[in-house]
Amino acid sequence: MNPDLWLPDSDLDDDHRTFAQRIRAFAADKLAPFARAIDEERTFRREMVADLAAAGILGGPLAAEFGGEGWSPLELAIAHEELGAVCGNARGFCAVQTGLVAQCIARFGDDAQRRRWLPGLIDGSAIGCFALTEPDAGSDVASLGTVAAKQGDGTFRIAGRKWWITNGGIADVMIVFASLDRSLGRKGITAFLVDTDRAGLARSPVPGVDLGHRGSDHAELVFEGFAATADEVLGELGAGFKVAMGGLAAGRLSVAAGAVGLHRAALAAAVEFTTGRQQFGQPLSSFQMVQERLADHLTSLHASRALVHRCARRREAGTETHADVAMAKLQATEAGSRACEDAVMLHGARGYSSAWPVERFWRDIQALRIYEGTSMIQKTILARLVTEG
Ligand SMILES: Cc1cc2nc3c(=O)[nH]c(=O)nc-3n(C[C@H](O)[C@H](O)[C@H](O)COP(=O)(O)OP(=O)(O)OC[C@H]3O[C@@H](n4cnc5c(N)ncnc54)[C@H](O)[C@@H]3O)c2cc1C
Repeated sequence: MNPDLWLPDSDLDDDHRTFAQRIRAFAADKLAPFARAIDEERTFRREMVADLAAAGILGGPLAAEFGGEGWSPLELAIAHEELGAVCGNARGFCAVQTGLVAQCIARFGDDAQRRRWLPGLIDGSAIGCFALTEPDAGSDVASLGTVAAKQGDGTFRIAGRKWWITNGGIADVMIVFASLDRSLGRKGITAFLVDTDRAGLARSPVPGVDLGHRGSDHAELVFEGFAATADEVLGELGAGFKVAMGGLAAGRLSVAAGAVGLHRAALAAAVEFTTGRQQFGQPLSSFQMVQERLADHLTSLHASRALVHRCARRREAGTETHADVAMAKLQATEAGSRACEDAVMLHGARGYSSAWPVERFWRDIQALRIYEGTSMIQKTILARLVTEG
């Protein structure tokens, strides 16, 4: 076993290595002891939120003026790899709470909205959700059917249905996307930043048992006569599509980094297991077919991380293109999924049990291929850029 081969440390300068080790130590201390239990028990662990806040992680990427640590995009990627390697539920929570909600408020909100919500989202006293997906509008965001009808007094009445909303059942605050005029397509969409403690909102868990991320809350939200004021518009009227796409494009980097973390954890587990287990009188890792898989997943891990860090560095330099994050997410989630699948296979029957972590890694990474733009949607983005410029 040579963890130096799959950890990022030797590619990082001293400051970034120290940063990675800080988040790794937090994850080992505060997340690892619960990662399996919350998955098996399907419970959202509220203490996890307090721990993430106390460690500065919830505010991490937010600027110091908002109470955050001002992480660079590369620090964000490093942090989400470390969190993802240990607990997909914690990483997914941060991606929504901080990446989609707090960062959208910081970027698109006015001073009053930032003052009201950012402190609570950073100290963990408020939980946020990002309510975009609907039963009939997933990848095709512009077709969403939730409507916001403007009233004579300037307020809005929101009606419609959202689902698969992470934190939706427990959120104190949400960004909800609704159309003022469906005939305008994406130009009709407006983002509203509202608290959840008001009439006209019914929340329930999504139907069925989730494949992965079982320690997370995924809800269906039904709005009927839900009132919002003009002050609760996030950004501008009719500019909600920009808010949604801005949040998702930013968030894709952390999803890609989380996939690198899962890939790394699956590879580490596969190496540990195959070097320890003997069949036919020799370690599994001495068989060439096993070695081939370990070698392939080590190589693709580094390819994924290189694309993720490249995207982060270009974001930092202001030279990022739409292709950068699409390539990073596509590569990291697809290669990570293959690594997790092989880790299950290489564990034999043990890989099929929650007593070993690899089946959870495989279940969790499937969602990373789906949310914040499926792999196919990343390919359509890339194909359009390649063919149309
Ligand atoms: C664990 C989890 C958490 C989530 N959290 C949130 C959240 O917090 N907030 C939120 O708003 N949503 C959330 N989602 C929803 C997620 O964003 C959507 O599931 C995703 O955007 C895909 O939409 P869909 O499920 O409707 O699939 P569809 O859009 O119906 O796609 C179904 C299939 O068709 C393919 N497809 C669609 N269009 C094309 C095309 N043009 N070309 C080729 N293939 C295509 C897709 O790739 C996919 O394979 C979450 C989902 C999961 C699984």
